[in-house]
Amino acid sequence: MTRRRHTPEEPAREDRRQVLRLALGALGSSLLPRCQHTPAGAVEGGPQPSPDAALDRPRPVDRPPAAADREPGYPLTFSGYKGLATLPFFELDKDGRLRCTVADLPPTVDFHTHFGFSFLLAPKIDLLASPPLRYLIDCDGATPPCTLNLDGYLNLIATKEMLDQMDKELAACLLPGGSKVCETETIPNLLAEMDALGIQRAVVLAIELGVGINDNASENWLAAIKAANAGSRLLLYGSVRPGQSKIPEKLQQLKASGMLGVKLHPTMQRFYPDDDGAMEIYAECAKLGLPVFFHSGRAGIEPALVQKYAELSRYVKPVSDYPTVRFVFGHAGAALDFKDALALAKAHKNVWLEMAGQGVSNLKTILDELGPERLLFGSDWPFYPEAVTLAKVLILTAKDKKVRDLLLAGNADQFLKS
Ligand SMILES: [Zn+2]
Repeated sequence: MTRRRHTPEEPAREDRRQVLRLALGALGSSLLPRCQHTPAGAVEGGPQPSPDAALDRPRPVDRPPAAADREPGYPLTFSGYKGLATLPFFELDKDGRLRCTVADLPPTVDFHTHFGFSFLLAPKIDLLASPPLRYLIDCDGATPPCTLNLDGYLNLIATKEMLDQMDKELAACLLPGGSKVCETETIPNLLAEMDALGIQRAVVLAIELGVGINDNASENWLAAIKAANAGSRLLLYGSVRPGQSKIPEKLQQLKASGMLGVKLHPTMQRFYPDDDGAMEIYAECAKLGLPVFFHSGRAGIEPALVQKYAELSRYVKPVSDYPTVRFVFGHAGAALDFKDALALAKAHKNVWLEMAGQGVSNLKTILDELGPERLLFGSDWPFYPEAVTLAKVLILTAKDKKVRDLLLAGNADQFLKS
C-alpha cells in the first residue's frame, strides 16, 4: 500500500493558529496521556470532539476505579502524593518533601523527565532558579488532595479542577507572560527531588513543536545543564522534526554537542512514525548510533487530527527496518495501545518500554510477558513527582531485589553505556 508522504513544513503565518491548537491539545492529552473517557456532556459512542476543540478538550467524568490490590500487603490508593509516606519506602522530611528510605536503592536512573516548557511568545525560563516547585498535575495542591491510584492510568487521578489548571498553564507556556507553574520546573528543583529519592541520573527529553519562534529547547536545555554543571546527572535527548531541513546535519550537531539520543513525539510534532521524513531520521540515527525515544500510543482523547499519528501500527516499520537502532517506547503504548506496544517489544529486541503512566497491573504484565531486561523506570517529571512511579516499582519488586535493580538502574545503565 502506498502511503501519502507527510511532509510537515515550517508553519505559514495563517497556519500557526491551527498548529498551536493541535500542539497544545497534544501537550495536555498525549504527552500526558489520559485514559479513555466519555467527554463531559457526550454520549458513549456519540460524536467525538472536533479537532478544533484542542483548547477545550473533553474532561473525564469518571473517578478512578478502585485499585486492584495485586500485591498483598501494600495499598495502591493514597491521599495525595504525600500519602505515599504511609508506604514503608518513604518518609516526609521537615519541609514536607518525600524522601526514599530504602537503604539499598541501586544508582537509579529516571529515563523520562522534562524541564518547564516555553514556546513561541512565552519568555525563556530561568532553568537555574529555585522557586518553590509546582507539578503540572498538582494532586497535593487540590483541596482535599486528589486520590492517588497506582493502578490504572496515572492521569486518571486528576480532578476536573486540576485538569483545568493544567490546561491553563500549558496554554500559558505559549503566551506572553509564560506559565508560573512551568517556570518552577527547573534544574535545581529536579536535582533536589532526585537527591531526596536517591535518584542518581535523569534523561531529560527536549521537545520542539515546529512553531518557528522560541522553539529551540534542545540547545537551550543543554546550555542550562552545562551552566548548572549538571552534565554528569542530567542526560539530554535532543529534538528533531521530520520534514525540517538538514536533518543529517542537525543530528550530527546534536550528537557532537553531547546529546545522547533523539526524542520524537508523533502527536505533538504531527507526523507518522513511518513517514518518509521520519525514516530519514532513523537512517541517520543508525549511522550515528543514536537511540530514539518515542512518545508511543494514543491517549484516547487527543484531537482527532493528531491521535492517528500515535497508532502502534505506524511504529512497526521503523523498528523492523532499523534493527540496529534502539527505540524506547515512552509510556509503553500509553492508555489505548499498551498491548500492541508490549507485542511489538516481544517481537523486536531493539524495542525498550518506558513505564511512565502505566499502573502496577500493566507493569506486572510486562514483567510476566517480556521479562525485566527491556523495561525502563521513568516518571514524566514535572507532570508528576518522581516518587509516584518509584513507588510502583518498589511495590512490584518488594520481594525481588534483582529485578528492582534492573528496572531502576541496571537496564538504563546498560542502555546508556552501549
Ligand atoms: Zn514526557
